[in-house]
Amino acid sequence: MNTRDHKQFQERVRFLLDSFVQDLPVRIDEIEQQWRQLQTKWDSKAMQALHSLVHNLVSNSMTFGFPALSTEARALEQIFKRLLQEEMLPSPALADDVGKQVTALKKISVENLPELESQIATAIDTTENVLFSPIHDSNLIFVVEDDAEAAQELALQLRYYGYEVEVFNHLEKFRAALMQRPNAITLMDIEFPGDAMGGIHFMKNMQKELPYSARVIFISVHDDMSYRLGAVRAGSVAFFTKPINSNELIDQLDLITASQVQEPFRVLLVNDSTIELTYHAAILEQADMIVRSVSEPLKLVEALNDFDPDLILMDLYMPECNGTELSRVIRQMDGLISIPIVYLASENDFNTQPEAMSLQGDDFLVKPIAPSFLVSAITSRVTRARALRSLMIHDGLTGLLNHTAIKEELAREVVRSSRLKTSLSFAMVDIDYFKKVNDTYGHAAGDRVLKSLARLLKQRLRETDIVGRYGGEEFAVIMNDTDAASAAKVVDEIRNVFSRLLHLSHDEEFSVNFSCGIADLAHFSDAVSLCEAADQALYQAKQRGRNKVIINVGD
Ligand code: GH3
Ligand code: MG
Ligand code: MG
Repeated sequence: MNTRDHKQFQERVRFLLDSFVQDLPVRIDEIEQQWRQLQTKWDSKAMQALHSLVHNLVSNSMTFGFPALSTEARALEQIFKRLLQEEMLPSPALADDVGKQVTALKKISVENLPELESQIATAIDTTENVLFSPIHDSNLIFVVEDDAEAAQELALQLRYYGYEVEVFNHLEKFRAALMQRPNAITLMDIEFPGDAMGGIHFMKNMQKELPYSARVIFISVHDDMSYRLGAVRAGSVAFFTKPINSNELIDQLDLITASQVQEPFRVLLVNDSTIELTYHAAILEQADMIVRSVSEPLKLVEALNDFDPDLILMDLYMPECNGTELSRVIRQMDGLISIPIVYLASENDFNTQPEAMSLQGDDFLVKPIAPSFLVSAITSRVTRARALRSLMIHDGLTGLLNHTAIKEELAREVVRSSRLKTSLSFAMVDIDYFKKVNDTYGHAAGDRVLKSLARLLKQRLRETDIVGRYGGEEFAVIMNDTDAASAAKVVDEIRNVFSRLLHLSHDEEFSVNFSCGIADLAHFSDAVSLCEAADQALYQAKQRGRNKVIINVGD
């Protein structure tokens, strides 16, 4: 985050709070006037509207952190609530209470203006430490290991897989390097000469000096709880025991670096108070999230259909319909059964809507919420939801999309390409005589072959191509903007490279090849027929001797 952005953000917040304070006298006048009309003639609709006005005042003053104001407004809200329930004109005593509360509110908004203004300054101060998600964008690995030979060995392997590696055996040099490039992933041996937990102690101190938490992978000969716990406390993202399985380490690094090109979080805000919407949007946008605001609950469905949020932040109390009702609507919509819904509530809401605790919604945040807390609460929930979703759509062995996910992608891409009138190819890849690989070299060796093909496909295909594991030793590739002939050329190159890779099992080397069938949208117009056509072509490739790529051009 640069300081100018932060200044702009604070100006936005200051503007909002200023206008809230400026508008207070008008809002309170409006409450007073509506109340006056109600005293002569009971009208439950009008009472409802009046209650909403006061509730909003409570909610806004909680949100912006004006405790005195919210206490007085809440007392008034309680009286109105009672009248609403009893559906009758107030007794003289109650009317008197309302008068007193209105006077108290007026007093705060006019006479105590300087006090309110000083509270604005405090609120602005709390925006100082809004958490900003760091942008991790490097493939840089720092290896900190006093055994020079082991370090060089590790560096060699990591470089082979495309990582940039620097080896350190002096802590001070490492410290300087990490200060300069906090994006790097550190691989650190926990044991230092003379201090069995030296790495943990060192990193714990180091983290405090960094602008955001650095990513560390600890390596240790000990696998006990105290080491693992210490590692987590020092900010570790993974823990490996010696001797290191370098395949696993590379997998872990791939996983960590793959998630660094993360799409910004998308948050849908639902709140009937537009000033609160603007305030929360300002905070979340400042933390690099994409925000969509809905102030009329009835327009929610429309927003859900074209915004595709990661999370919904919803006011619990709204006049047209409350948050819990809306959640039920959302849960009944296609694909939204698991979207995180977080309610914004004031303590008071728990007394009036205890059912909200158990229904539909995932979580509560209680007003007032410090901006940095709002950002971190949303960040952790979205991160968890994305991780769960990722588990659901990816294959555990290869990390590629699983069968269901790749079929869904194909359906989506076919619709898109048909609309845009662009070409699209679908390729099915199946390893030849794979059963023999398992039988001869064992299942584990077979697994490694599957992983190496997955890695090769990912590496050689474009960023926009979509790769999935279709079945056991079958893979599927969706290639946008590509006709079958061009797709065949690309896949044939991969076939050629793959067939020359040497796999290792105990000291024996062996090689494997695959067959492929391809079909494109120019010859087959929907997802089902594309799939069938590619499968038929694959069958042809097998029939004609395997280790081949065949195109199906229909009849
Ligand atoms: P073809 O050339 O005709 O494709 O012969 P094939 O042996 O490759 O085909 P077949 O379908 O007869 O055998 C596929 C084998 O793949 C059988 C199964 O044990 C193995 N397999 C499926 N999933 C996995 C897996 O996750 N790991 C390993 N190691 N093997 C798997
Ligand atoms: Mg096969
Ligand atoms: Mg097969």
